[in-house]
Amino acid sequence: MTEGQVIVGLEVHCQLDTKSKLFCGCSTDYRNDAPNTHVCPVCLGLPGAMPVLNKRSIEYAMRVAKALNCSVLPESEFSRKNYFYPDLDKAYQITQYDKPLAEGGYLEIESDEGGEKRIRITRIHVEEDPGRLVHMGNTEQGKYSLVDYNRAGIPLIEIVSEPDMRSPKEARKFLNKLRATLEYLSVFDSEKEGSLRVDANISIKGSERVEVKNISSYKGVEKALLFEITRQKSLLRRGQKVDRETRHYLEARGVTQSSRSKEQEHDYRYFPEPDLRPLHVQSWVEGIVLPELPDARRERFIAQYGCSLNHARTLTGELRLANFFETVVAADPKGLSTLADTWIADTLIGELNYRDMSIDAVDTTGFTKLLTLLKEGTITDKSGIEVLRVMLDQRHNNQSCGSPSAIVDRLNLRKVSLNNAQSGSEGNPDIDPLRTSIAEVLDEHPAAVEDFRKGKKGAFNFLIGQLMKKTRGCADPAELNQLLQEELEKKEA
Ligand SMILES: [Zn+2]
Repeated sequence: MTEGQVIVGLEVHCQLDTKSKLFCGCSTDYRNDAPNTHVCPVCLGLPGAMPVLNKRSIEYAMRVAKALNCSVLPESEFSRKNYFYPDLDKAYQITQYDKPLAEGGYLEIESDEGGEKRIRITRIHVEEDPGRLVHMGNTEQGKYSLVDYNRAGIPLIEIVSEPDMRSPKEARKFLNKLRATLEYLSVFDSEKEGSLRVDANISIKGSERVEVKNISSYKGVEKALLFEITRQKSLLRRGQKVDRETRHYLEARGVTQSSRSKEQEHDYRYFPEPDLRPLHVQSWVEGIVLPELPDARRERFIAQYGCSLNHARTLTGELRLANFFETVVAADPKGLSTLADTWIADTLIGELNYRDMSIDAVDTTGFTKLLTLLKEGTITDKSGIEVLRVMLDQRHNNQSCGSPSAIVDRLNLRKVSLNNAQSGSEGNPDIDPLRTSIAEVLDEHPAAVEDFRKGKKGAFNFLIGQLMKKTRGCADPAELNQLLQEELEKKEA
């Protein structure tokens, strides 16, 4: 490890996507409902209410433990973490403390140098989510806060990593890989708002460690870490020291802010939860069969569809994207896989990001038809992008989506080509649209033709540019090049 080296460890809280809460039968599907409508005596912490453990949530947690190569402990135990806060109705949180569900695993990510790198997992434990505070006005000046217990008791797992990451980028890769793995395991839905929250420990080698709390988005983690590294390094450069402290990330401003440290010095007085028995689930975990995980799917995409390593990484890095790719390709595996590989991993993702749309919004049938038009040579790549943009814009504006062929016809994007004319099945076989366009361009720009004759290379590119304009991108560039060359040679002869 070199001087000035950045050291990052993450604590990731993920909501498990069960139907009911961790200790009661209340529904977890609370996001669009009125506050305090998914509650009962148990998750409201009323006196005398007894928690009953949701078996499914333990099974989900064990799937994660197995996928992250952790050992499930022979005995684990729930504990009470005591503190007072308005979002915690019982004044204690049921969590796991000295006997977590699982320990000692790892997750492989692509390192900054390009190879594979193992990030060690310290432990995985199960706990309940607290409720949610809604501050009226901003946190500094708001007059009061509202509390919603719909979220209280939602099952969470906390995944704690060793401080094995060396840059914000590696932290982002770790989170992306973790998210993909959880989604492949069908235990987590990253699309649900607030389903993942991160605390990050960060230090510069040789200095104190800072904990940044409650980062609630994937992008937030990388930004918060970048901010912290700059802040810590500039302190050290000025000969000051970094304090060991807890800071909060203010998402809107992109900065971290010191939490008044005294308030954070809790004594949680952990003790075993008397209303729940210890868990002995080691034999159960052996029977859990895992589905295909991201790494295996990536290798299969390379072997089965001939994807490049980078494209396979991108495509399998998100469950929905990987499923989309395989649905599209299923129509014609031999004919479409190469096209789908590039068009999804390079073009489509870029266009979706630009519009802040998710892959779910893309119509698989329409996209498959678009690829078929490209495969059959009906349109050029450039026109393909134009059609795709129209399709996405229509979807984005909630308009009904015309079929790709209809869009091609409406925008008059059918490829202008020599072959179209020679096949002679439609229109007048004597008219070759491309040669006509070339003749026109050559007539309109005699000076450029003259320059070309004198050996100026730029003149050729200029003429190609004029041709592209005239054919509105509907001609195959390679074909244009060749035809123009031929026509110029004819003129010269
Ligand atoms: Zn409840």
